[in-house]
Amino acid sequence: MIAEVIVDVAAHPIDRPFDYAVPENFAALAEPGMRVKVPFGNRKVLGFITTIKETSEFDPKRLKPVHELMDVEPVLNQEMLELAQWMKRHTVCFEIDALQVMVPAALRAKYEKRFVLNAPIEVLPKDLQPYFGTREFVRAQEAEAVFGLMKKEMDKGTVLADTNIQQKTAVKTIRMVHITDSIEVIDNLSIRANAKQQLKLQAYFREHLGETVEAARLQKEAGVSLPTIHALAEKGLASYSLMESYRDPSLLTAIEHNTALSLTDEQQTAFEAIHASLNTEKTFMLHGITGSGKTEIYLQTIAQVLEEGKEAIMLVPEISLTPQMTIRFKERFGDLVAVLHSGLSAGEKYDEWRKIQRAEVKVVVGARSAIFAPFQNLGLIILDEEHESSYKQDDAPRYHARDVAIWRSKQHQCPVILGSATPSLESYARAQKGVYELLVLKNRAKSQPLPDVHIVDMREELRTGNRSMFSIELAEAIRERLQRNEQVVLFLNKRGYSSFVLCRDCGTVLQCPNCDISLTYHRASERMKCHYCGYDEPVPTTCPECESDHIRFFGTGTQKVEEELAKLVPDARVLRMDVDTTRNKGAHEKILTAFGEGKADILLGTQMIAKGLDFPNITLVGVLSADTTLHLPDFRAAEKTYQLLTQVSGRAGRDVLPGEVYVQTYTPEHYAIMLAKDQLYEPFYEQEMAMRRASGYPPYYYVVNIQFTHEDLMTVSGYAEQMTEYLRNRLSPKTIIIGPSASLIARVNNRYRYQCLIKYKTEPKLADALQQLIKMYRSEWIKTGATLSIDMNPTTV
Ligand code: ADP
Ligand code: ZN
Ligand code: ZN
Repeated sequence: MIAEVIVDVAAHPIDRPFDYAVPENFAALAEPGMRVKVPFGNRKVLGFITTIKETSEFDPKRLKPVHELMDVEPVLNQEMLELAQWMKRHTVCFEIDALQVMVPAALRAKYEKRFVLNAPIEVLPKDLQPYFGTREFVRAQEAEAVFGLMKKEMDKGTVLADTNIQQKTAVKTIRMVHITDSIEVIDNLSIRANAKQQLKLQAYFREHLGETVEAARLQKEAGVSLPTIHALAEKGLASYSLMESYRDPSLLTAIEHNTALSLTDEQQTAFEAIHASLNTEKTFMLHGITGSGKTEIYLQTIAQVLEEGKEAIMLVPEISLTPQMTIRFKERFGDLVAVLHSGLSAGEKYDEWRKIQRAEVKVVVGARSAIFAPFQNLGLIILDEEHESSYKQDDAPRYHARDVAIWRSKQHQCPVILGSATPSLESYARAQKGVYELLVLKNRAKSQPLPDVHIVDMREELRTGNRSMFSIELAEAIRERLQRNEQVVLFLNKRGYSSFVLCRDCGTVLQCPNCDISLTYHRASERMKCHYCGYDEPVPTTCPECESDHIRFFGTGTQKVEEELAKLVPDARVLRMDVDTTRNKGAHEKILTAFGEGKADILLGTQMIAKGLDFPNITLVGVLSADTTLHLPDFRAAEKTYQLLTQVSGRAGRDVLPGEVYVQTYTPEHYAIMLAKDQLYEPFYEQEMAMRRASGYPPYYYVVNIQFTHEDLMTVSGYAEQMTEYLRNRLSPKTIIIGPSASLIARVNNRYRYQCLIKYKTEPKLADALQQLIKMYRSEWIKTGATLSIDMNPTTV
């Protein structure tokens, strides 16, 4: 028997399965989709069996045997194995990357570099002997300080370098105690404890004759310690076992069951269209303004799917959105819901994943990678906020959850719903062409009016001498809300807004020594940090260049806004939600719950608060600066600005109380800002499409971004030249190739970055050319330490 295995080895010029012999003792067990440990070169690596077959084109006697089978059941089913091959072609990734992304992190084995002793310990120099002690190997990390000595010994052959695969322990177990069913054994009990305790224990055992109880419960109810249980077991009174259990990522909020609302006419029309297409591979674009009741449609459609005995995947873009969304889903479907997002520990994720694998749940609510939920009988896939860039993974495999959703919908013959108040231009264009069916919700579900949006021209504020980051109008509106005991959300568009330190005498901006980017001031820790490589240093008191002490902070982080706010409204209770306050597990949910319970008047935050907030008492939203996303060097700048403004505005006036929004900007005449004011999506779409057509960007052109990195600038620019030259010769003249040029941030972590952009409408030679490029990279360039990344359809350029 022979197994085709995709091995976890990056540096090999050919991405294909390798044949291994399956030894007799595994032959009955081995199946496609299982993980194996196999020899590769002179080390052992991890891999996935993709096929089991009888014959090989290679001499079977020379095939190496599978070293170890790591699973008793496949972790990937046939659908996932096929999906990996499709992802490999579609996103130009290595098959192993596609396979690894589909299993929870707990199942991705960890590699450990280590040194193995190959001679008697006495042979080693004295300085190395303690490292080995009585062990056979030393972890590479441990040996860092004596690496030079290790190397010398390796040259002599007394020490070998080795890679070991460590399986992470993934399953949580609880200790169970089986109580004897023999009364005599209990009657004859004698333990080294006082008489009263013994009687109590005997009584408990008689009552639970032959039962199995959790050790923890036994300890509590019968008042015995773990060593006593152990002693009892030795006397034949009980026996132990370990039982698999799930970790429960429980929510802070209590869940109460609720039932379907009666749909509005608009909702009903959309619902019926989808309902009529269950069991077909159709894709719907559900374009509904914020608060129009899209989620209620999802819930009711899923209820139908469950009734047919099928399963559903509900994707939400980000963790901050998940608590409220999860609560709504658990309220409706209870324990049938699994949750998968980055806020869970690896163990919790693994448990949720196993519930799906075992079909113990029917619905998964989760972020991007939940699209790989191994349901066998999918009836519906939903992407809420389908325009969100977090649906695209930004390292290999660079897949978009939307594409994977549509692929899976074909396998399962089930519909996909793409929901948004501000669809991505790509999806809306497809809906216009009839590739997707367009469903529209024009009104809010509780027929509340849209909030009243005021655009505030900050240039005027400056002219009238107001240098604060709060305009007179916004400040006034905040005070008004505080008087009426209503709630305020203040939104700071963080990107491009980090605080930096500048010397007023010589103009020096504090830079990261490893990256071409300025350091960000962090007030909580009083340190300067690099957001790219993690470098940090104390805040300087004098300029490192000219030693002037005229050194100043610039920019407006959330912390700085908080300070100004404290001056503006000293009595207000303010909650801040940004990367600093949400580092700990569950922090998002805590902040949102506190705000929902009225424990604060103002919620101040970044992008994180733009979505999903649904609290009735929010009547004012302030956008401190609408311009920051607008001026990003990105073809999606206007689209992102429109989306953000619409989304943030949608947080106000969602219930009985009417909402008001103030948008502060230095470019009030920009169409993205003007049209977001009244949520005029179609005119925005038309105008933005014209821009995209003129500048040759998606959806008119497909884009591929290719990036090289290397420690040496000349090397990386040389490779980029060679690559661009090659592409120019290979691809058709109609295809536009831009570059090579240094990337926007030209150096990160001391590695230089060069890129080239391919823009095309149809390019039949592209796939081959890219494969050829990968071959060149894997057989040549990789050896010098270069990295290559290919991003098909990047979300930003
Ligand atoms: P969206 O997902 O489009 O932003 P939601 O589904 O969150 O909208 O609905 C907005 C609000 O309207 C929620 O508070 C929701 O409970 C309520 N809602 C939705 N549909 C109905 C309905 N048919 N009748 C009454 N209230 C509804
Ligand atoms: Zn200076
Ligand atoms: Zn850095």
